[in-house]
Amino acid sequence: MEFGDKIGAAPGKVEYLYSPSKGIAAQISGSSPGIFAMYMVAVSMDGRRLLDEIPATGIGTTAVYPQPSVVTYIQCDEFGMWGRNCPACQKYFRTNHIIGGTCCPYCAAWAPGLAFMSKDQRKYITACYDAFARALREKKDATVEVANITDRNPAWHYSELKQQLHFECSHVDCRAQTDILGDYGYCPRCGRTNARKLFLERIEKMLIRWEDVDNTIADRRDRSEVWDDMTKNIVGDFEYLAKHLRKKLLHFPMTPNRLKRLEELNFQQPLPANESLLQWFDISLLTWPGSGEIPKRIVPDSDVPFIKKMVQRRHILIHNGGVVDQDYLSFSADTQVVLGERVRIRSNEAKRFIEIVRTMAENLMDNVEHGFEE
Ligand SMILES: [Zn+2]
Ligand SMILES: [Zn+2]
Repeated sequence: MEFGDKIGAAPGKVEYLYSPSKGIAAQISGSSPGIFAMYMVAVSMDGRRLLDEIPATGIGTTAVYPQPSVVTYIQCDEFGMWGRNCPACQKYFRTNHIIGGTCCPYCAAWAPGLAFMSKDQRKYITACYDAFARALREKKDATVEVANITDRNPAWHYSELKQQLHFECSHVDCRAQTDILGDYGYCPRCGRTNARKLFLERIEKMLIRWEDVDNTIADRRDRSEVWDDMTKNIVGDFEYLAKHLRKKLLHFPMTPNRLKRLEELNFQQPLPANESLLQWFDISLLTWPGSGEIPKRIVPDSDVPFIKKMVQRRHILIHNGGVVDQDYLSFSADTQVVLGERVRIRSNEAKRFIEIVRTMAENLMDNVEHGFEE
């Protein structure tokens, strides 16, 4: 399925059954052989306010929820997911995590589940509430049938947009399912990032390509072009990841001035960025101090001059055709080249740089994700 395809709701219906003695009871049924799940929301008797989400309970137990209220039902789509809109950044995603605190996959803001209610779901709740009110007013059964609503009244069209990336949280106790735009995102249920797996896969691919080119391409110029590209790309990949992880840090308490500086932090220059992160949060790209589950990991100090040189080489590859200028000589501390010379990145340098950047990325991920745990 391509991005943007409309996804229909799994067919099912909600009936509000009228009984002169007992009042109104809700009955739900699914006609779909596929996934059928609903989640419940208690609405105030006047239909104006959403009071609470009602967790599903097992047979023989009754959920406790605000009284009096009208229980409405929001059905999942045919993939067992529900659309959500972040109350902070307004962006849309889909997930099967709907009850309780929710983390926005895009901006990492936490808010109660109800705050993430999508517009379509609000319409659906209204339809349920209206059926309830009709049953009460007319003293007879009223039904909300998803398929019928969808066909007869486009305003009630309950469908969701399929997003670009589907991921399952890799944490063993979570496993929430989510659809997002783009690729890096936070799990709505536990707030962990999905970037670890994606980033490491990307690096793995790059190293396989390195191996392949190193073994099969003999022409010096052709090889050199690949090492140049890899040097350029790896920093870009790192920057993209770091910007994603920064979203988490932006929710930490800090002064407006620091917030602004963090927003502007330039990850294309990992070493100065590292200095700032160390100062502000006591976390480092060069060190992950280790925890019970993840062993300590460091980029040795002896690698720092090399990182500095490679970052500056990347800079002139992008901005100066790879030709050494005065800035390069001043900032890189590279004594092997002269002004006007075209830098040449050797195969082992490209590989070493990729591996160091991978370590810095892993350090950053662990520091952001686990460095603040008690
Ligand atoms: Zn958001
Ligand atoms: Zn999770």
